[in-house]
Amino acid sequence: MPGTDSVRGGWTAIEYALVIGLAVVIVGTVVLSVMAFLGDDAPTGKTTGQQRFHCLKCNYEFDALEAYPDLMSEGGFGPTTRLDCPKCKAAGTCVRMLQCPNCGTFFVSEQAKLGIVPGSGQDVPEICPKCKTDYHRWFRKKR
Ligand SMILES: [Zn+2]
Ligand SMILES: [Zn+2]
Repeated sequence: MPGTDSVRGGWTAIEYALVIGLAVVIVGTVVLSVMAFLGDDAPTGKTTGQQRFHCLKCNYEFDALEAYPDLMSEGGFGPTTRLDCPKCKAAGTCVRMLQCPNCGTFFVSEQAKLGIVPGSGQDVPEICPKCKTDYHRWFRKKR
């Protein structure tokens, strides 16, 4: 019987464009969510991986790996390690600094100053002096 719609032999250009566009959107969404997922695994915020130390005696600040290039090969340092000051030469007066993951500001670690080992149950809050971000809470929240 005539009048039934004939089966079309192919897609029009517009249909092609729609399908490709849809595929791009889906792939893009998947890639973005995978990246967000992976990113959540290792949140670093604005931190740059520098290991800055601060001299409690003369207030000198320095990059530990620049001042002591052999430090890492000698076993590195722990959260409460104290270094000798490269400037005023005082022994063991330099404590580790933390870098705020929210604004990138370096500030002296209270725990390092007090010699408290993280996770010892005496955790002291580490608050960024600039934006008041709680250092440990920030990382806990992102996990
Ligand atoms: Zn010093
Ligand atoms: Zn901050």
